[in-house]
Amino acid sequence: MKRHNMLQEARDEATAWDILVIGGGATGAGVAVDAAERGYKTLLLEQHDFGKGTSSRSTKLVHGGVRYLEQGNISLVMEALKERGLLRQNAPHLVSELPFVVPSYSWWEGPFYGIGLKVYQVLSGKYGFGPSQLISKEETLRRLPNVNPDGLTGGVVYFDGQFDDSRLLINLIGTAAEQGATLLNYAKVTGLRKDNQGLVDGVAWQDIETGATFNATAKVVVNATGPFTDSVRHLADPTAKPIIVPSQGAHIVLNRSFLPADTAIMVPHTSDGRVMFAIPWHGHTLVGTTDTPISQTPIEPVALDQEIEFMLETASLYLEKKPTRADILSVFAGIRPLAKSGRGANTAELSRDHTIHIDRNGLISIAGGKWTTYRNMAQDCVDQAATLANLPDKPCATRTLNIHGYHLNARSFGSLAVYGADAPAIRRLIDEDAALGQPLDPELPYAEAEVIWAAREEMARTVEDILARRTRALFLNARAAIRMAPRVAALLAREFGRDAGWQQDQVEAFSKIASGFLPRV
Ligand SMILES: Cc1cc2nc3c(=O)[nH]c(=O)nc-3n(C[C@H](O)[C@H](O)[C@H](O)COP(=O)(O)OP(=O)(O)OC[C@H]3O[C@@H](n4cnc5c(N)ncnc54)[C@H](O)[C@@H]3O)c2cc1C
Repeated sequence: MKRHNMLQEARDEATAWDILVIGGGATGAGVAVDAAERGYKTLLLEQHDFGKGTSSRSTKLVHGGVRYLEQGNISLVMEALKERGLLRQNAPHLVSELPFVVPSYSWWEGPFYGIGLKVYQVLSGKYGFGPSQLISKEETLRRLPNVNPDGLTGGVVYFDGQFDDSRLLINLIGTAAEQGATLLNYAKVTGLRKDNQGLVDGVAWQDIETGATFNATAKVVVNATGPFTDSVRHLADPTAKPIIVPSQGAHIVLNRSFLPADTAIMVPHTSDGRVMFAIPWHGHTLVGTTDTPISQTPIEPVALDQEIEFMLETASLYLEKKPTRADILSVFAGIRPLAKSGRGANTAELSRDHTIHIDRNGLISIAGGKWTTYRNMAQDCVDQAATLANLPDKPCATRTLNIHGYHLNARSFGSLAVYGADAPAIRRLIDEDAALGQPLDPELPYAEAEVIWAAREEMARTVEDILARRTRALFLNARAAIRMAPRVAALLAREFGRDAGWQQDQVEAFSKIASGFLPRV
């Protein structure tokens, strides 16, 4: 994946694309993989970096959604459980099985949640993970050494999937490229073009790096811009009624001592009636999430003080060693693009199903759903897009399509495990130049070679791309990421032939963003 080559292809205005996708998050990348695999000529344009939006800010679960079971949405849970199984099959280097314990503090909780979680397991059918079971107080304490022992009666174990969201996204972009798609980051769609019948037949876009503007023509345009769905629809029809409701969710990241074993905690009922997780992730503890209705959709959402307080308070109820603000290594927020078809005013009750909306001008918008169900969403969307654009009928083949990096024993690559089949190539960089084996910071497991790899092979363009989405430094430890920024800028400058001024601008821009990942103490 070379941005230079992608740019050359995208800027050729003579190309007639079959499908043009706006948005390089999970939804858009999924659509690009599916469309390109079917042989359709596909272009994807992302205004910032791939995964800059919600898709790098999830709870990192590949799951059916225990909460939706409670809400009685069986079909959504079954669909997601099936997709969970397919994703583990197609990206085993990034998706793994994780045990969860629901700790019980009264006699009825064990049997009550035990039955619910058994149903959850049964619904997954042949795509099942490990079996759920009731466990004793002693076993609960063994699996969760820092769980609050006061009044603990036992627990329920069940299994779900866990992943690294932005790494999967980068690998989906790679998969789409291997299937023949053209995908470009830092390419913002600024307008929707229409033919003389008023039907959308292309876009106007800008290369954010140079400011140059271009047009692209397509048989069908898919709007996969998540929280920005309605603003992109307004480019073609300023009167279009909204189809999504944005809702913010935040997470805090603590060190491993808060969850020292490799088992997650699931709290089925917080004081605001939600589910809360504490999850071991890349050697740290991830706690979240919240559900806060918002009216604006900024590109860089910041966790609210009350969200941080709520997560600390809820975690403190369930943990013996209680986290404080000073323990927070990173805090991040994302915006759910919820489909506006739910009944309740509370966003926690809005539909988690996806919606495909076709405007009268022919623009297809796909929004809602979950990371877990991105493949199925893409299949639905490409089916509809192909019909609308009269493209030759081709069946979807992504159920069994390996995702770039596919490797059955990626753990053997140690700290490079997330790269799967690409890990040996990164090792070779270090073999050729031992200096690239240097860690970027003593507190995180990232080496200089990863910066070089991401710049050469994964279309990373900025310090933020490296520290937020190619590695997960910013999400794991914001202070460490700030310390790493000057070295990353120097390595990128060497790769791209940039000067000292560029490095300084990069470090300043990154530090500003990273300050939003640090809570006020
Ligand atoms: C707090 C939280 C926790 C979650 N946890 C989970 C979980 O554990 N498991 C799970 O399965 N799901 C989870 N989800 C849901 C999941 O993350 C989302 O459903 C998914 O990431 C949405 O992806 P998307 O591609 O639709 O949106 P996004 O990832 O936001 O992508 C949209 C992209 O469009 C781009 N864009 C916007 N306008 C333009 C333009 N004009 N030109 C070009 N590009 C443009 C944006 O820059 C952005 O990158 C969670 C969501 C949140 C908010």
